[in-house]
Amino acid sequence: MDCIFCKIVNGEIKSAKVYEDEDVLCIKDINPQAPVHILIIPKKHIAKLYQTDEITLLGKMLKIGCDIAEKEGIKESGYRIVINTNRNAGQSVDHIHFHLLGGRILMWPPG
Ligand code: 5GP
Ligand code: ZN
Repeated sequence: MDCIFCKIVNGEIKSAKVYEDEDVLCIKDINPQAPVHILIIPKKHIAKLYQTDEITLLGKMLKIGCDIAEKEGIKESGYRIVINTNRNAGQSVDHIHFHLLGGRILMWPPG
């Protein structure tokens, strides 16, 4: 499959790994939008958030994001976990991923 995140998961494309277990890989975003910008990616290929009912996996990914935020030292200052879905939200990779962003003040509403 021609999916950049599947290639990262299987090691075909290099990445800066932050966390890994049997279900999830977390890497530094190649084009960071904040001092901390980490992608939380399921190893399994799921193109869109609405195409899965794997709530255990999705919940696990959220928990991992919170744990990484704590490790990165942004728990107290604050952080955002976001999932862009489809064109209007700017989803550019069709393999679901959570963005963990922090280390600076994040605007609201988002652009
Ligand atoms: P989206 O726009 O789909 O919400 O997020 C995709 C993210 O993946 C972007 O923030 C982009 O910078 C990141 N990204 C795209 N290709 C690569 C890559 O090869 N390596 C890493 N580490 N991040 C990537
Ligand atoms: Zn994929």
